[in-house]
Amino acid sequence: MKKVVIAGGGIAGLSAGIYALKAGFEAEIYEKNALPGGECMGWNRKGYHIDNCIHWLTGTDPDTKLWQVWKTVGAIDENTEYAAEDKFYTSILDGKRVTLWHDTDKTRKELLEIAPEDADEINKFMDHVEYAKSCVIPSDKPLDMMGIKDYIAMGKEMADFPKVMKEYGKISLSELAEKFKTPVMKKLMTDYLPKEYTAYSFLVSYATMASGNGKIPLKGSLAMTLRIAEKFKEMGGRIFTNAPAKRIVIEGNRATGLELADGTVVEADEVITAVDTAFLYGNLIDRKYMPKDLKKAYENRKAYPVTSGFQIACAIDADFSETGTVVFDCEPLSIGDQKYERMSVKSYAYDKSFAPEGRTVLQANVVQSDEDYRYWESLSKEEYKAKKAELSEQLVERIVKAFPELDGRIEILDCWTPLTYNRYCNAYHGSYMGFVTTVGNKQMRFKGVVKGVSNLFVAGQWVMSPGGLPIALVSGKFAVQRILRRDKKSIDI
Ligand SMILES: Cc1cc2nc3c(=O)[nH]c(=O)nc-3n(C[C@H](O)[C@H](O)[C@H](O)COP(=O)(O)OP(=O)(O)OC[C@H]3O[C@@H](n4cnc5c(N)ncnc54)[C@H](O)[C@@H]3O)c2cc1C
Repeated sequence: MKKVVIAGGGIAGLSAGIYALKAGFEAEIYEKNALPGGECMGWNRKGYHIDNCIHWLTGTDPDTKLWQVWKTVGAIDENTEYAAEDKFYTSILDGKRVTLWHDTDKTRKELLEIAPEDADEINKFMDHVEYAKSCVIPSDKPLDMMGIKDYIAMGKEMADFPKVMKEYGKISLSELAEKFKTPVMKKLMTDYLPKEYTAYSFLVSYATMASGNGKIPLKGSLAMTLRIAEKFKEMGGRIFTNAPAKRIVIEGNRATGLELADGTVVEADEVITAVDTAFLYGNLIDRKYMPKDLKKAYENRKAYPVTSGFQIACAIDADFSETGTVVFDCEPLSIGDQKYERMSVKSYAYDKSFAPEGRTVLQANVVQSDEDYRYWESLSKEEYKAKKAELSEQLVERIVKAFPELDGRIEILDCWTPLTYNRYCNAYHGSYMGFVTTVGNKQMRFKGVVKGVSNLFVAGQWVMSPGGLPIALVSGKFAVQRILRRDKKSIDI
């Protein structure tokens, strides 16, 4: 039996492993951390669980093909229970609140009441959110393996989507915000995703939740990761943790195995890498193998920005179920040369397994950029520790200012920075998504093959912008399909 060896045990690596087994290969995953999951993670502190990934899982609607892929890897099934959340988030400005409810009629009504002067723009936005519900992520096979019939079927399924691209495909979120007159509406457009993002991405995100195709599985991100890892093991796969890869051994035009940091060489018939691509090229394999477009993207930080976060998790002795995610003005926070005057707080009250009864975990997040990453990197160990502590306290002060009832009832559980993501996952500039799709750039997409090496395949969220869990998931499946296609075998797995 052919052996597939996979570097990286995040969602992409686990998915590749499961599909390799389904295709009849032997499969082994080598993961640098003590647990698989990568960025789909959660951890415990002081009797609380900090869930740090799924805000929405695209593919929770059982009528979608993506649901089938999540089911195949054991992430969700017909019996999965989801959080009873009813909103995406709320923006607050000068005492005015606007919410993107999952119920889009309710949102339209609320927005029209609060901002009647923006009626035309609101109606247009909400109409296009309805159209955006038709957006699907191809999950049967890679785009380049699709035939005419597949394209016709996809075109039918996404019939309304071109309308979204026409109106919102060539403007950024800041430009979208400019179309509104009411200040709180402007904020609503730029409060969640980075303002450089192409506006259509935002409509698709909201539409995914509003259509019921982007729910949050209860018990959180780590539990989902562990279900997938369990399925892989039950099917006969082997995961090696605390097993960082040092290099992919390439001889001539073939990858012959994986060399681990301890010097062990694991032999392989096929190698799939599912680690961050910025780490892959230059560390596991020579940078000369990096596709041109990807190289350009890394070199052009303005056109291809990435985002991360400075985050804190706190315990509060209050229920806080109604809050959801709120974004509000705060006293300026300084990180290096940057000043932040808005912050977000998310209540995890929707999942009772995260905190003791009557208590809740709150997270605050300050979105971080490439420049912020450089700032954090420039600090000494002591400065880094001190800055984290200072910012954590400042965030708590600002939470209390926004929610005075929490005064004296907040305990900081943990805080982490873009450097944490880099240390834990080798994530490029701490980014936990792929490149931001901006108006000026070409959407990053590459095939996941390595020119000149016939049996080395690339999976992971960086193969297609904007990344995220569904892209990681299908990229693992696609890597296995590429092996099958190369060998002229059926790719129906
Ligand atoms: C706060 C936060 C919120 C998010 N919210 C959402 C959301 O709501 N919806 C959504 O779809 N996505 C969300 N994401 C993004 C999602 O988590 C990622 O897109 C996805 O998990 C990426 O999976 P991956 O397998 O491509 O990469 P990774 O998770 O980075 O996996 C790569 C793996 O490779 C391992 N590795 C690295 N170097 C080596 C080495 N040398 N040897 C062996 N192993 C190595 C890493 O440890 C890691 O396990 C969020 C992420 C975060 C952090």
